[in-house]
Order: sequence, then C-alpha cells, then structure tokens
Amino acid sequence: MGKRFDSLLFPGFRTKAFTLSYDDGVHQDRRLVKLFDDYKVKGTFNLNYGTLDHEEIVEFPGRPKIDISRVSKEEVKTLYQNQEVGGHGLYHSDLASLGEPYAMYEIIEDKADLEKLVGKPLQMFAYPFGIYDDKVIDLLKKAGYKGARTIKSTHSFELPENPFVLDPTCHHNDEKLMELADQFLHGRAFRSQLFYVWGHGYEFDGSNNWERIEELVSYMSGHEDVWYATNGEILSYLKAYEMLEYSADGSIIYNPSCTDVYLMTSFQTKEELKAGTHTQIKETAL
Ligand SMILES: [Zn+2]
Repeated sequence: MGKRFDSLLFPGFRTKAFTLSYDDGVHQDRRLVKLFDDYKVKGTFNLNYGTLDHEEIVEFPGRPKIDISRVSKEEVKTLYQNQEVGGHGLYHSDLASLGEPYAMYEIIEDKADLEKLVGKPLQMFAYPFGIYDDKVIDLLKKAGYKGARTIKSTHSFELPENPFVLDPTCHHNDEKLMELADQFLHGRAFRSQLFYVWGHGYEFDGSNNWERIEELVSYMSGHEDVWYATNGEILSYLKAYEMLEYSADGSIIYNPSCTDVYLMTSFQTKEELKAGTHTQIKETAL
C-alpha cells in the first residue's frame, strides 16, 4: 500500500468542494457578498488596492453605462469577513508586460496594503486580464502567495495540479453553468471534485442578470457532501494532504500539518488523520 492508492476526501469526509472567485473589488461586491453569505457559500475576492475608493463609470459601444466604482478601504475588512480577500495587482496592470521591478512593486504593494486592511497574510492572487508567464509566477511565489487564478475555463472538476495555474471550471455567464452545476451535484465521480466559478460583480449589472448568480448559489447551497470553502482554504487543505508522510509499508500515516486530513484508503476505509498525529490504518493487507 502507498499514498498513490489513497484518494483525498475533503473535510468531514466530503467528496466535493465548491468555490467562487470575483475580481476588481467593485461596489456590486456588496450585493454579491450578501448573497454568498446568505446562502453560506464561499469565495475569494481579488482586489486592486490602488483602485479602492475610486469612482468609475464605463461605457461600451451600444451598451448601457455601468458603474464600476470600487468599494472603500474602510469597508474591506467587514464586507469580506466571511469570504477571502486576494490580491489582483496594485493598479490592475498586465504584469507579464512589465519589467520585473515594476511587476514586483505592483504585486507586493498591493499585497502589503491589503494585508493591513484585512489583518492577515493574503494567500490568493488572480492574474489581471488572466495574463501570466513564468516571471509573474516566480514573483508571486517570492511575494508569499500560495496560488493564482487564470481565466481559462476547463468545464471540468479536476483538482488543480499547479496552484499557480488555477483554471476555473467556468465563468458565471458560461452557457453550460447550470448543466455543470447539475453534473457536479448529481453525476458519478470516482475522485473528489472541485467546482470553481469566477467573474466580476459589475457583469451582473451590465448584463442585468443577477438572477443567474442567485440561481447558481441557491442550487449549490446546503448539500451535505459539498465543502463550501474559499480558494485559499482549498489550497491549504490540498497542501496538508501533500505533506502526509507514509511508513514504508503504508500502514502508518503521519500528518505533520495543523489541518485534519480526510482520505479514502485503497482498502476503502475512510480515515481522519488528526493534525500532528500518527494514524494506524485499519487494514494493512489486501
Ligand atoms: Zn480584474
């Protein structure tokens, strides 16, 4: 027996995790956060510190004006208290096109200033415009980030292989949104799954479709086999799973992290590996 034969379960022996990710810290986040809080779902809100408090109206040809004014610095901590705040670059620049010093400034100033507002280290980042390269990933790691989201839809529920290439399942305007939600909740799965939806709060005003996100979160809410977690909580949990140490014959597992880890062994037994303890696996021979 070995680690490769075990499979990860989420906290509470759950097999599914649902998370959301919304960018730019626009005023529509107030309504969105209330919706998430009301339905007890969780997400990560990626903010540009340098644009907080700014008022801005945008108009695209042939479409009504949209108010994309940002939330205030003063309200960040309380507004997002049940959610997660992530970084999104100080001024929302395309970081791959900048020289290293300025790209690092955009990353680290944003992070340091947002951390002062929320009172804890930021874990997550979302690439402005979804653009990144190896340099940007390297700078994010040096700045202390644990992962970063792209804008590439996978239409799948696979767990991420690279935390700095977090491809979401889909955008909320994806025509397959509810079909994917249904498949996630009711389809057959052999491994634990992650459903990951992203977007911008102002898009609900722009497309006049707030009912779309309410339909999604009400449908997704309240399922016992689903873990509702922020992006950072999910990455921290996956990291704790990766850190598990196995004895040579696989019969003893040490969990060196401060997180309880749940798994299904190759003997089809469910194990709760308490933080900082050794667990003797119930069955040791096939
Ligand atoms: Zn953005």
